[in-house]
Amino acid sequence: MQNFRFIAVESAISKVPSKAEPPAKETSAYYGCNVFDRRAMRKYLSEETRRSIYETVERGATLDRNVANHVAEGMKRWAMDMGATHYTHWFQPLTGGTAEKHDSFADPRGHGESIEKFEGKLLFQQEPDASSFPSGGLRNTFEARGYTAWDPSSPAFVIGDTLCIPTVFVSYTGEALDYKTPLLKSDSAVTKATKDVLSYFGQENEVVHSYLGWEQEYFLVDKDLYMQRPDLVMTGRTLVGHDSAKNQQLDDHYFAAIPPRVLDFMRDLEYEAYKLGIPVKTRHNEVAPNQFEIAPVYEQANLAIDHNLLLMSLMQNIAEKHGFEVLLHEKPFAGINGSGKHCNWSLGTESGIGLMSPGKTDEENLRFLCFMANTLKAVYDNNDLLKAAVLNADNAHRLGASEAPPAIISSFLGQQVSGAFEELLKTKDMVKIAGKKGYSLGIPQVPELLVDNTDRNRTSPFAFTGNRFEYRAVGSSANCSGPITVLNTILAAQLVKFKAAVDKRIKDGTPVLQAVLDETRETYKAAKNVVFDGNGYSDEWKAEAKKRGLDCETSVPLCYNALDSKKAVKLFKDTGVMSQVELESRKEVFLEIYSKKIAIEGRVLSDLTTNHVIPVAISYQNILLSNVKNLKDIYGDKDFRKMAASQMDLIKCISEDISAAESLVDELDALDAKLRSAADGMGPAKEYHDKMVPLLEEIRKHVDSLEMMVDDQMWPLPKYRELLFIH
Ligand code: ADP
Ligand code: MG
Repeated sequence: MQNFRFIAVESAISKVPSKAEPPAKETSAYYGCNVFDRRAMRKYLSEETRRSIYETVERGATLDRNVANHVAEGMKRWAMDMGATHYTHWFQPLTGGTAEKHDSFADPRGHGESIEKFEGKLLFQQEPDASSFPSGGLRNTFEARGYTAWDPSSPAFVIGDTLCIPTVFVSYTGEALDYKTPLLKSDSAVTKATKDVLSYFGQENEVVHSYLGWEQEYFLVDKDLYMQRPDLVMTGRTLVGHDSAKNQQLDDHYFAAIPPRVLDFMRDLEYEAYKLGIPVKTRHNEVAPNQFEIAPVYEQANLAIDHNLLLMSLMQNIAEKHGFEVLLHEKPFAGINGSGKHCNWSLGTESGIGLMSPGKTDEENLRFLCFMANTLKAVYDNNDLLKAAVLNADNAHRLGASEAPPAIISSFLGQQVSGAFEELLKTKDMVKIAGKKGYSLGIPQVPELLVDNTDRNRTSPFAFTGNRFEYRAVGSSANCSGPITVLNTILAAQLVKFKAAVDKRIKDGTPVLQAVLDETRETYKAAKNVVFDGNGYSDEWKAEAKKRGLDCETSVPLCYNALDSKKAVKLFKDTGVMSQVELESRKEVFLEIYSKKIAIEGRVLSDLTTNHVIPVAISYQNILLSNVKNLKDIYGDKDFRKMAASQMDLIKCISEDISAAESLVDELDALDAKLRSAADGMGPAKEYHDKMVPLLEEIRKHVDSLEMMVDDQMWPLPKYRELLFIH
């Protein structure tokens, strides 16, 4: 019998690791060479033009249209010198990922003539045919217009022959159709609110930003094996597949040596990332086999997000060259760790003050406690919204599925900071916060260790880690703008409330810093329920969290109700980040994406079970049946019963799984047909969640059981042990 699977595995193993071109040793020789950064601007723009651009980037000043013409001209000359022939507005639709439409610089003039042209207005604004992007009812089809508009705070870059210009994407009537628009607005809102509070410390003139350092987790699988898994190709995850006997139980993959072929991929990736000015810094093996992580040095949130999106597409291209497929799905494999993208988020000033870092003086520590308490209160009041910003069909497999983190958003502070707050509740005065402690290991050769004032808690979804909060519930494929927009917005709104309360105390005669301290104490008291330092996986916590008023809902469609609740509408309106219509449209888009994803999984699994798995199971069953018959022919009725007993059991078990799988697939097909016949072609998201998802799980059990019974040589799909251990 032709053994297709075996051949594919062979070819995957025999692949010789490609030798990556060694880049120049010093990164300074090529870092940022594909970015229209200050170095490039100095060469291609006049000093006056540069000054206007810097004003815009640093202070958020609006750029003059005349200046734009100069910028466009310089940018075009730079890009053409870099070999670019085309330009594109690069934007971030709600479908995830990024989108682009390329136009040539060439401007044919007739009479056989053509010149290269790129004007300010083309840099500023474009009108891509936007009708195929989801808008959640924001755009009627007769008004299928969308505009992209230049975001000067994120630099343009060249990839291949194309100049890419980061842009926002809005509808004809100005509503956001993308992730970047609300993110930029949320950054302005939190910046303004922060400066107002900093005025109590005489620091209102500081330039404030929200910062983000993401940690991107991913799996690499061999491309040949990947291509033979229709479920991976179509849905990004394995819909069936029995556990591998060995997976992560020995904890031997985390931080282990990186396999050579993977290391080649990583080197190539880092090289390309550096050329685009993406400050990647850390690489290591993750917990699950064939799972890895890459993380940069943190940057201003807007830029960090553009860099993350760029990196995700770079990863796909570079993996291809190395014979890998990158899986960015949150849960490609059942039974082992999924992939997240921890978002390390903080507020800080350009002069280097970290507003979420403890300081040296009482005043600095008061500022720290003040921003901490306000963040905790914002998270407590809006934990439902924060969860809705990261939940989707894929991430739902990860959150709350007994792996970090649970689907209840609480915060871990660590002993020192929790202790300081508890102390604050008992006194009217300022409290001390312990700094880094010296810690001797008792080994003479080894110097004293400096231990952070936070310990670690792996199960907390929103953990304080010394100078930032780490939001760990974010999924690996996500655009971080969703959660960062929510974090910025809820903190902005909370700081406005805080300021009003402090002002009132001051008006009533309390000295300024005492007023800040008193209000910080009250804010923490009201937020305290969100602080949880224990085991987030335990059942007791689920019960306790409910009592504390935290949102414990796990159904994705129901969680989305937080997106346009009365509270959310007021919050986003007051901060100027999004209107009610924008929120409602977002919810509609997310529900639609949810339903479509589950529907696709349903169809793929139905096909896989009916056309791949069951025919093979029947063939194997036939082999067993004829063997049993032959035994009977040769050995006669009496002896054969004993000899064939276990085979006859196996035949029965195979039959049971086949018929169970068949009838469940019938049910699945009928449900799919019913939902598809709805007016909008897909029925309510709740039906997909409540009815289709459990059916997928049930079918999988039978298919996985068949995998363990059918001859390995005949099984039509690469197995977990191959997908996870071949690199
Ligand atoms: P971990 O120990 O959590 O795996 P990593 O070093 O992998 O830590 O990633 C931590 C991320 O947090 C990095 O991107 C780092 O630059 C970022 N980070 C550090 N300090 C801050 C800060 N103040 N604000 C935002 N991000 C920060
Ligand atoms: Mg981390």
